[in-house]
Amino acid sequence: MKSYDAVVIGGGPAGMAAALYLARAGVNFLAVEKMSHGGQMLLTDELENFPGFPDGIKGYELADRMDRHVKHYKYDHVYDEVLQILPGEEYHEVVVASGDHVRCQVVIITSGVTFRKLKVPNEEKLLGRGISYCALCDGHFYRDKVVAVVGGGNSALEESVYLSKLVKKLYLVHRREEFRADMVYQEKCLANPVIEPVMNSVVSKFVGDTEVVGVEIKNVVSGEYSVLDVDGVFIFVGFDAVCSFFPKELALDQFGFIKTTCEMESSIPGIYAAGDIRSKRCRQVVTAVGDGATAATAAYAYLEHK
Ligand code: NAP
Repeated sequence: MKSYDAVVIGGGPAGMAAALYLARAGVNFLAVEKMSHGGQMLLTDELENFPGFPDGIKGYELADRMDRHVKHYKYDHVYDEVLQILPGEEYHEVVVASGDHVRCQVVIITSGVTFRKLKVPNEEKLLGRGISYCALCDGHFYRDKVVAVVGGGNSALEESVYLSKLVKKLYLVHRREEFRADMVYQEKCLANPVIEPVMNSVVSKFVGDTEVVGVEIKNVVSGEYSVLDVDGVFIFVGFDAVCSFFPKELALDQFGFIKTTCEMESSIPGIYAAGDIRSKRCRQVVTAVGDGATAATAAYAYLEHK
């Protein structure tokens, strides 16, 4: 069994910041990332609110800069999926898909979030056939076509602005009368001639056999159903925690996110959480980075104490 002082799970901004701080403190740690470094940043076209970039920065570019920064330092990292965390009194064990068991004093969980589904008929069947959760990945398929975007938060409106530069027409379908998104995105969408808000409306089903040809919506005020003829639908209705490997003793909030102290300590000594996976209000790259640095600093103090 391999042994480290710490294991960092996840390679998004929280994980990379935690790795940077642990590496600089000389901690012997392993970083485990399932796919590629950057997390949700890789799915974001332009970040306009990361301090220090007054003209904005592309998501992939910020991810690459963070990755290069942390790789200035020597530490072990693997691309693998964490299957289980087994907490213990003396040490914790992290089990990865390749079969390895890693023993460590500290675990920093930064596993982030996954896209929430609408759970309406035909969503599974037409996924990748006109239904997408990533404008940056799939937007170019809909050049000069008609799409719908579902959601009223920052993601939905920000991605609508991005898509409006590609598509001919965009219906922005939201279940309430007011958007949840920041005013800056609301103003951009409402002033955009390509974007037509469809308020007080929920998706009741996706229409199409082998690919999306429309989306059926229900007006929640009038109760009436109608069909929007669209070539594609982008769904941005929030995120769920990536939590399949959590130990059952870990305290979570009602939505499945990890409860922490302001030092990022979870309910289990030696286990920390940082970034979007943590129970909190503000899920941003800048807060993820702060969480990661805080968790690593607290973990370092914990290791010193032990
Ligand atoms: P969100 O803020 O949770 O918004 C989800 C939206 O989807 C809400 O408008 C919600 O409606 C709607 N919704 C939820 N479930 C639905 C359902 N079953 N059917 C129809 N509509 C549904 O999620 P998000 O926009 O993905 O953002 C997540 C976090 O990341 C937030 O903290 C956000 O501020 C942050 N973020 C920030 C930026 C930025 O600052 N540039 C960009 C993207 C995301 P209601 O409003 O009625 O609840």
